[in-house]
Amino acid sequence: MRKSLLAAAFLGLLTAGPAMADAPPPDVLVSIKPLHGLVAAVMKGVAEPGLIVSGDASPHDYAMKPSDARALERARLLVWVGKDFEGWLKKPAAKARHRLTMQEIPGMTRLATREGGVWDSHGNDHGHKDHGKDDHDETDGHLWLDPDNAARLVDAVAGRLAEMDPARADRYKANAAETRKRLADLDSTLAARLKPVAGKPYVVFHDAHQYFEARYGLTPAGAVTIDPERPPSAKRMAALRDRLKATKAACVFREPRFAGPTVQALADAAGARIALLDPEGALAEAGPDAYFTIMTAIADSLADCLSGR
Ligand SMILES: [Zn+2]
Repeated sequence: MRKSLLAAAFLGLLTAGPAMADAPPPDVLVSIKPLHGLVAAVMKGVAEPGLIVSGDASPHDYAMKPSDARALERARLLVWVGKDFEGWLKKPAAKARHRLTMQEIPGMTRLATREGGVWDSHGNDHGHKDHGKDDHDETDGHLWLDPDNAARLVDAVAGRLAEMDPARADRYKANAAETRKRLADLDSTLAARLKPVAGKPYVVFHDAHQYFEARYGLTPAGAVTIDPERPPSAKRMAALRDRLKATKAACVFREPRFAGPTVQALADAAGARIALLDPEGALAEAGPDAYFTIMTAIADSLADCLSGR
């Protein structure tokens, strides 16, 4: 009797034991909120990845805090877009133990950064170099705004985590499969939502939405600024006003951190409506649903404003 109780207790320990006996899951750190959402979805039920640019801080010219540097030192894997987007992370990333760089994943759709901002005008403002740095033909780093690119990232993250943490490989792969399915559903929902407004011109605050626009056949007329950290020049504002009138753009989109007065002045001059786009998820709550929240909000805002609602 006593013996079998002991045996049962021992067996109980054994069955409860394996998770505790395994190595802890890898400490993963992600640069920005939309990518963090996708990584969090792959790691759901295992652990939460860390996030560098949280809240509504700018992902374009973020200043790393000492706590970020410590988090990067602790991390076994850093997931980021790459040097063409988080230029501020280029040097620190080189010291990361392992890196997964979204812009280098094979098969990723990459579009070149658009020049200027009022894309077919002759006006060329300063400042476009700040998006990336070194190269001339740099990639537009807002890669996540194409759901196919998001799916490629999800696969790459799951593959890498499965290698680093084989004990939980099945979990990562199952989560990735579920996330890919959610991405496919999101894609068809967005395509249907945006189809009616595909031909309607509009102006955005900064040129973040190229991948989204290409994917859903939208008709942007320009961006107020290429460099979201700098106000547009008077010359560009004049060019934009002309372009808004010429294209009969219905909407000018502001962003959470930017350009109340600038956008207001433009919209007033052209008789356009103002609405909000949040391509980098400044307003989104971080977590495994963040990517879906961000993409749905963009589609809703575009569809509502451009259809006159
Ligand atoms: Zn941006």
